[in-house]
Amino acid sequence: MAFLTEEDRRYTTPEDICAHVGDEYEKFMGAVVPPVFQNSLFVRPKAGGGMPDAGYAYTRMSNPTTDIAERKIAALEGGDGALCFSSGMGAISSAIMHFVRANCHVVLVDTAYGCTLGFIKDYLHQRFNVDYTLVSGESVDEIRAAIRPDTRLIYLESPSSLVFRMQDLDAVAALAREKGIGTVIDNSYATPLYQQPLKHGVDMVCHTASKYLGGHSDIVAGAVAARREIIESIQNYERAWLGSSMDPHQASLLIRGLRTLTVRVPQHAANAEKVAAFLENSPKIRRVFYPGSRTFEQNELFHRYMTRATGLLSFVPAGGWEDAVRFTSRLRCFQNGCSWGGFESLCIPLGQDEAGRAAGRPDNLVRMHVGLENVDTLIADISQALDTLPDA
Ligand SMILES: *Cc1c(COP(=O)(O)O)cnc(C)c1O
Repeated sequence: MAFLTEEDRRYTTPEDICAHVGDEYEKFMGAVVPPVFQNSLFVRPKAGGGMPDAGYAYTRMSNPTTDIAERKIAALEGGDGALCFSSGMGAISSAIMHFVRANCHVVLVDTAYGCTLGFIKDYLHQRFNVDYTLVSGESVDEIRAAIRPDTRLIYLESPSSLVFRMQDLDAVAALAREKGIGTVIDNSYATPLYQQPLKHGVDMVCHTASKYLGGHSDIVAGAVAARREIIESIQNYERAWLGSSMDPHQASLLIRGLRTLTVRVPQHAANAEKVAAFLENSPKIRRVFYPGSRTFEQNELFHRYMTRATGLLSFVPAGGWEDAVRFTSRLRCFQNGCSWGGFESLCIPLGQDEAGRAAGRPDNLVRMHVGLENVDTLIADISQALDTLPDA
């Protein structure tokens, strides 16, 4: 099932969890990799029949392969259980729907992922009269001031994925608990290796597993982790009825990705730390955004909640928009793509929009995902592309 077993709880380090939670050699005929249960249906014992009940009925509700991915994620995040979804947005929309009701109010950070903002502003607000207040999330007083008697949810994303804004998780969770309000966080940037929000009192963690958890740019997937009653409710309502359940084949690719999470993510981090330091020392760069760098504005929050930053960073190059576009098109090792978390390096210039300006995002921001290639090759590539820019 989606919940940790006694056996699973014996694995306490991320390395052992990723490698071995869900191993059931006796059940799977000694197979070292669990089989893909690529079936929609599980037949049920008949009345008076001798077949034991394994507890499965239909893959939209639960599946033995998907269960293994869920138990690994639950163990990594420190939840009682987890649920996998067909996309990150499947997980995020289900998490939000668990807490909201028609005509209620939501407080959310203005740097949240674009589709998350869209789901609340352009869908729940317009169709179900869910009101919302956007906050920068930089101070708990700002969040306290935004709370109303009808507030049901505080939605966090820390760090966010463009300028990496962070929130004080202990303080926000304590405030929400005092007021009887639910809390959800998108933890995709940090991964459970470097930040575990449930341990700070946040009710529910969401992930796009399309990014680091999958890690190979070959699946679109999502997950939520939480305590038992929340997971039971989402399994029986939002995931069962809205139906964005994970496919078992996708689950087996996710399990495969998770097995190497603890070697991949530190390598992304090591490469990105070197790239960030290189960019910070370049006369062609005005400003670098990277949690963990000396110049990161919310250094104190970073050290309180995270043990390391990952592979995504952004920066403001010298010159104007045309220069940013020229820089990214001159790169040879970095492809032009908007996702991140896979093995490959990516870099995109981010055009400004109304929401970005309102959230304090600089014009002319370039976002880079540092992949698993040789870091000296990547830095040489960035260096030759920077030569085309004026000095800052
Ligand atoms: C990509 C992304 C999502 C959405 O995930 P999908 O798997 O594409 O649905 C959510 N949050 C963040 C921070 C993301 O980067």
